[in-house]
Amino acid sequence: DLILHNGEFIQEENLVISKEDRGYQFGDGIYEVIRVYDGSLFTAKEHIDRFYDSADKIKIVIPYTKDVFHKMMYDFVEVNKIDMGYVYVQITRGAAERQHQFPTQATPVITGNTKSVARPVASLESGVTAKFIEDIRWLRCDIKSLNLLGNVLAKQEAYEEGFFEAILHRGETVTEGSSSNMYGLKNGMLYTHPATNLILNGITRRVILELCKELEIPVEETAFTKTQALQMDEFFMSSTTSEVMPIIAIGDQKIGQGVPGELTRKLQTAFQARIQVGVKS
Ligand code: PLP
Repeated sequence: DLILHNGEFIQEENLVISKEDRGYQFGDGIYEVIRVYDGSLFTAKEHIDRFYDSADKIKIVIPYTKDVFHKMMYDFVEVNKIDMGYVYVQITRGAAERQHQFPTQATPVITGNTKSVARPVASLESGVTAKFIEDIRWLRCDIKSLNLLGNVLAKQEAYEEGFFEAILHRGETVTEGSSSNMYGLKNGMLYTHPATNLILNGITRRVILELCKELEIPVEETAFTKTQALQMDEFFMSSTTSEVMPIIAIGDQKIGQGVPGELTRKLQTAFQARIQVGVKS
């Protein structure tokens, strides 16, 4: 497959990145992951808007209009003939002699790749388990930054202990997952952390909140505690690659009956319908 480098599709062996690229040395950049279903980019506009917003928040200027960038993503999927998969794209502040302040002369570097991946149908059906881990990240989690150490360390700890995801919490308050958003359902009401600086406002999260409106599931964008999480009737996480993923246990404690809940199933069905709409439009 070809990779993306500054607007061109090239063979990976021809990619040259400076050892002084600030993405490499400082994690000074941002990224985005867009899902491809049946050859179409799902919620591309929302992902591209967030890519530009993240760049703007760290004062990187993307050297393309959104329309040109959108077409680039579209062409990328086509050139690599991706049917089911995703596009990963990142932009760094570029290469410059190492110093913390922004370089006066550096050209942003965009790289990306596509990957074929199936939907995680088995896990979507059975649900997964997760583990509470203290959220030690910085206070701008709304930026989809390349700095992912806090997320990486949390995921590794969960993974080593056989859990699918880490449920991050600041003190008692549940924020989000290491690479997902978190939701609890109690007495028919959906609870999720508000879209503040403490979480990434997932594109899947936004779709889910729309689906809740359609399905008339009331939503409280209010943070909940670890204790409340364990007492939810249903629990699930969401992300571009995990979709609406039931969480059936946290640590060694079952949530509800320890199987995917009824409203979670409804949201999964509605989400699946959206994917098909996305494919046609
Ligand atoms: N929160 C974090 C920290 C993430 O890294 C991600 C995505 O990878 C999400 C939430 C979910 O966002 P999205 O639904 O846009 O994939």
